[in-house]
Amino acid sequence: MTPLAALLADRIRAGGPLTLADYMAECLLHPLHGYYATRDPFGTGGDFTTAPEISQMFGELLGLALAQYWLDLGAPAPFVLAEPGPGRGTLMADVLRATRAVPGFHAAAQIWLVEASPVLRDRQRQALAGHAVHWADRVEDLPDGPLFLLANEFFDALPIRQFTRGPTGWDETVVGLSPAGALQLGRVPVADPGLTAAPGTVVEICPAALPIAAHLGTRIAAQGGLALILDYGGWGSRGDTFQALHHHTFADPLAAPGEADLTAHVDFRALAAAARPAAHAFTTQGTLLNALGLQTRAERLAARLSGPALQAHLAAARRLTHPDEMGTLFKALALYPPGAPTPPGLA
Ligand code: SAH
Repeated sequence: MTPLAALLADRIRAGGPLTLADYMAECLLHPLHGYYATRDPFGTGGDFTTAPEISQMFGELLGLALAQYWLDLGAPAPFVLAEPGPGRGTLMADVLRATRAVPGFHAAAQIWLVEASPVLRDRQRQALAGHAVHWADRVEDLPDGPLFLLANEFFDALPIRQFTRGPTGWDETVVGLSPAGALQLGRVPVADPGLTAAPGTVVEICPAALPIAAHLGTRIAAQGGLALILDYGGWGSRGDTFQALHHHTFADPLAAPGEADLTAHVDFRALAAAARPAAHAFTTQGTLLNALGLQTRAERLAARLSGPALQAHLAAARRLTHPDEMGTLFKALALYPPGAPTPPGLA
């Protein structure tokens, strides 16, 4: 048993089973034993790899899209350039490098990161050395002003609750204890959670995501800006997507609490609905990156490479965009002011 498993078992003995949201929150962010609170999980030696870690092109293209939209909105100054869940800080570093040549963009940008993990805040500080960077604990704590925000694989880390529609009512998936005292999944009947679905359907909701989307929508509608949210998931999709990744392999989410990454697919329809009155546009990651010019950028970088470096670069371009890889599973949601032009790559 991991130390966190022992703590959670005590908690369940004292107070009954935990919702998946309580379980996820403890596993990811417990101050002593939480997954993100204690490590840098990225890269080949870690548990998973994300788009910004696969290729610099991801951050470059998204950064230029933000900067183009900033120009489209009349280059408001100052503005807040923000990223929740920045991991190693790679995405923001690529954004800042790519936008150096955009006149006035850096001078007007106030850089804000929203990060819960002290370990990752240190990594971000190193990655962004030379820039004035501020940290906030919550998206809602970002300062006022026009907001240009990128979020990659942030929303999938927010805790979910999972319900199953039975013949007569709803059950919630919970983490309880087996007779031998091991963590085990179970289902308990709950009051109607206000969802509609046919019997047998599994529905996941992400209570923490909705106030964040609502905050983004309200402030972008009122003060201007753009939020680009990339993640795996779908549009109103259903089903059990609660998963654990350990050393790049799917694992039992209860096997080693605090030592595996736990995620669930993002329901972009729920985010877009919560973000009203902001306007939204939705597409796949592959479509967006190709529309922003990924293939052209890839060819330009390829001209300087040869041998294994060239092969790795071509594989990375394919991985980000191809439907068999991240291109279709990953989606992109843009939130922008109602009545404003559609953001780059999303028309
Ligand atoms: N965007 C990065 C990292 C994704 S992993 C990339 O694409 O590589 C998720 C990130 O969100 C980590 O930095 C994690 O520490 C952070 N995080 C998770 N839950 C959070 C929360 N509730 N508040 C703030 N940051 C959180």
